[in-house]
Amino acid sequence: MFVRCDFCGSLRPRWAYPVDGGARNACDDCRGAIEADDREALLDRALLIPLPRTVSDRYAPRFRETAKRLHESFWRQRAGPATALRNGDRSDRLDSRPGSTDE
Ligand SMILES: [Zn+2]
Repeated sequence: MFVRCDFCGSLRPRWAYPVDGGARNACDDCRGAIEADDREALLDRALLIPLPRTVSDRYAPRFRETAKRLHESFWRQRAGPATALRNGDRSDRLDSRPGSTDE
């Protein structure tokens, strides 16, 4: 399962911000912009998202407009501080205990 930063598309999101009815994932850099309340910087990061090949240049502005709206709703709906994500960077699994075969 791939988890992406909802703001810049990075494949290494580390934080989850609670919003109405869910959460938005953020990487370290986007979190920095969010914590600094720097909406311009955050939006600049959204423009780093490579456009899907199916999106022609003609529609690129629309695609970016969508990112902008997503950000605006995030700023409105933000419901609390970020919590750290754990997605597989560390593979410590509590449920696997090799060697415990006693029945
Ligand atoms: Zn990001």
